[in-house]
Amino acid sequence: MKTSDLEINPLLPADKKEKGSISLSEDVRVTNEQLIKAYSDLEIFFENVEEVLFSIDMVNFKVIQMSAACKKIYGYSPGEFIADIKLWIKLIHPEDKNVIEGNDEKLAAGKTVINQYRIVHKNGSIRWIEGKLIPTLDKKGLLTRIDGIGKDITENKLAEKSLQRSEANLRTILDNTDAGYLLIDVDLKIISFNERARIFAERDLHQKPAEGDYIIDYFVPERKVAIKTMMEDALLGNNNSYELKYLQPDNSTIWYHIHLFGISNKDGDIFALSLSVNEITERKLAEDKLNRLNTALEKRAAELADSNDELERFAYVASHDLQEPVRMVSSFLGLLKNKYNHQLDKEARRYIDFAAGGAERMKSLISDLLEFSRITTVKKDHTLINLNELVNKTLHILRIQSEESQATITFTKLPELPGDESQLMQLFQNLIGNAIKYRGNSAPVITIGSVEKDHDWEFFINDNGIGIAPDHFDKIFVIFQRLHNRNEYSGTGMGLAICKKIVELHGGKIWVESSGETGSCFYFTIPKLNNI
Ligand code: ADP
Repeated sequence: MKTSDLEINPLLPADKKEKGSISLSEDVRVTNEQLIKAYSDLEIFFENVEEVLFSIDMVNFKVIQMSAACKKIYGYSPGEFIADIKLWIKLIHPEDKNVIEGNDEKLAAGKTVINQYRIVHKNGSIRWIEGKLIPTLDKKGLLTRIDGIGKDITENKLAEKSLQRSEANLRTILDNTDAGYLLIDVDLKIISFNERARIFAERDLHQKPAEGDYIIDYFVPERKVAIKTMMEDALLGNNNSYELKYLQPDNSTIWYHIHLFGISNKDGDIFALSLSVNEITERKLAEDKLNRLNTALEKRAAELADSNDELERFAYVASHDLQEPVRMVSSFLGLLKNKYNHQLDKEARRYIDFAAGGAERMKSLISDLLEFSRITTVKKDHTLINLNELVNKTLHILRIQSEESQATITFTKLPELPGDESQLMQLFQNLIGNAIKYRGNSAPVITIGSVEKDHDWEFFINDNGIGIAPDHFDKIFVIFQRLHNRNEYSGTGMGLAICKKIVELHGGKIWVESSGETGSCFYFTIPKLNNI
C-alpha cells in the first residue's frame, strides 16, 4: 500500500484527515514510515475485527468501506454492501424496520444512534444486531459522513429472552400460589412481592404495597417492634416461623403463618429476606373446634369412667350381696326335697328340681359377675411372668376336660412378660377352655403361639371347633352374651368379657377371626413394656 492511498483513514472522522500525516497533538509529528506501519496495523485490525466496521460518504451517498466481518454476520461480502448502499436496510427483519425510523433526523442533528434489531442472514437465519452510527457534520452543520459498527448480539439476546421467559414463568407461578411472597432488603424495604402478598396487604393490613416501602410501616404500632425483631433475627441467619392473629373491623379473626429466612450470596452473606405468608384461618378454626371437642370428650370420658366405676361397684355389691340369699334358696330347696320327699307327689318334686336348677344357675351367674367386677386393676408386680410355665399350669387345670375330649394342645415357645399372673392365667384358661368346649365333630386340635411385634407381643389360640359367624365377633365379648343355649353348651356368657377386661387392663386388645364354619382363632396383644 502506498502513502498516497491514505486518502481515507477508517478510524478518523473525515474532518481529521490529512494527506500524508496525522495530527495527533501539537507536539507530536510522525514520519511517513511510521504512518504506513500504523495504517497497515489498522488494516489488519479492520479486516479481522469481529464487528462490522463501515463508513458512508453522505455527500456522494456511497459506502466507502466495509469490514470483512459483514460476510460472517450478514452472509454478504463488503463488495455487495458497497455496491448497494441500501442493502443493510433491506436485510433488517420486516418486523424491526421501525426500529431505525427517526435515525436520519438524529444523525442529521449530529447525534450518535444505537439500535438493536433482527436481520435476515443470506442463509435465511435470523440474527440480532446492535448497530451504532456516528455522524460527522461539516462546519455548516451538514451531515457528510457516517461511521458505524454492527455487532452480532444474537447469543446475548437469546440468553436475555430465555431469562425473561423463565422470569415470566416464575412470576406466573408466584402470582398464582396461595402463599404471599415478599422479598425484602437488609434495610427492611420491599424489593418485590407477588400478587397474593398484594391481596393480603390490601385486604387485611389495609396497605397498598409498593417496591421500596419500609415493611414495618405496614403494621399497627403495637406489632412493629415484634415484627422488626423477627426480621432482624432472620437477617442474622435464623429461619423462623410465626403465627399471627389479626382482628378485623367486623370482629372476625384472620390467622397467618409467616415464614422468614435470609437469602445469602455465594459468600454466605445475607443480602435479602424472603417472607412468605399463608392464611391459616380455616386450619386455626378447625384446631379450635377440635380442641373444644377434645375438652368435651375428655369431660365425657371422665364422666363415663365415673359412672363405670359406679356400675362396677354396684355389680360387685349386688352380686356379693345376692350370693347369700341364693345360697339360702338353694340349700332350703335341698332340705325341702330331702325331708319331705315322701310327702310330695311327682309333679311337686319336678317343680322343686326346676327351682333348684334355677337357683344353681343364678349362683354361677352371680359368681361370674362377682369375678368380673373384682377385676378392676392389674396387680402392679414388676416381675416378669414366664408364660410357658403359666400355660403349662393352665393346661394342668384343664386336663380333665382336655382328656375327656381327647384334645391335642400344643404351644410354641412363649415369651416372658410383665403382668398380673392370676389374671393372665384366667385369660388363657378361658380361651383354651372355650376352644375345648366349642369343639366340632372331631377331637379338638388347639395351637397356642405368639408373634413379636414392635411394641407388644401378639398371642393366638387357634382351634378346629364350630367357628363363629363374623356378625358375632364383637357381641361375644359383651357380658352375658352367648351364641348358644345352655342345653347345647354350658356357660354364663361371662368368659370372654372377663378376657377382654384383663387384656385391656394390661394395655392390649383382643379380637377373633373365624370363617364362621370351622375353627376360630382368638388373638390378643400385651405390651412389652410394663406400663400398666
Ligand atoms: P360362655 O362360654 O360362658 O358362653 P364366653 O364369653 O366364654 O361365654 O363366650 C361367649 C360366646 O362366644 C359363647 O357362647 C360361644 O358361642 C362363643 N365362643 C367362645 N369361644 C368360642 C370358640 N372357641 N369357638 C366357637 N365359639 C366360641
